[in-house]
Amino acid sequence: MATNRTFTMIKPDAVAENHIGGILSMIEQGGFRIVELQKVALTPERAGQFYAVHKERPFYNDLVTYMSSGPIVAAILEKDNAVADFRTLIGATNPANAEEGTIRKKYAKSIEANAVHGSDSDENAQIEGEFFFSK
Ligand code: ADP
Ligand code: MG
Repeated sequence: MATNRTFTMIKPDAVAENHIGGILSMIEQGGFRIVELQKVALTPERAGQFYAVHKERPFYNDLVTYMSSGPIVAAILEKDNAVADFRTLIGATNPANAEEGTIRKKYAKSIEANAVHGSDSDENAQIEGEFFFSK
């Protein structure tokens, strides 16, 4: 059964380029309620923990460096069918493949610096939300 919450981060490149407001606006316009919100810096160790599932991927070390290169904005979002609808709103991982109207189409710079994170399952939404916000 689909739950009604997902987890997102606005990644360091988008924060550095003053796109927090623009991205949060697209999120709210997309029908999501912001339940929790926090601007925070990840240490390389914390970034590595968050992306531990990608540990064996060739891009892992670069990803950890990138995600700890400056502050991020973490948020829990609420909407019916939140996980799937948010993945639709953010668009493809590689912005070259992202559809018009998606957050990554508008704000992502590359397959790595792709502006936002969105959880890929209800289970991970719960785990990732608890990584930043106490239960
Ligand atoms: P998504 O964020 O769309 O769920 P993944 O879970 O596959 O994508 O990857 C996590 C993050 O790792 C991506 O958002 C992106 O920042 C980075 N990444 C993914 N694939 C690559 C790649 N081929 N090269 C560099 N960075 C990548
Ligand atoms: Mg993912």
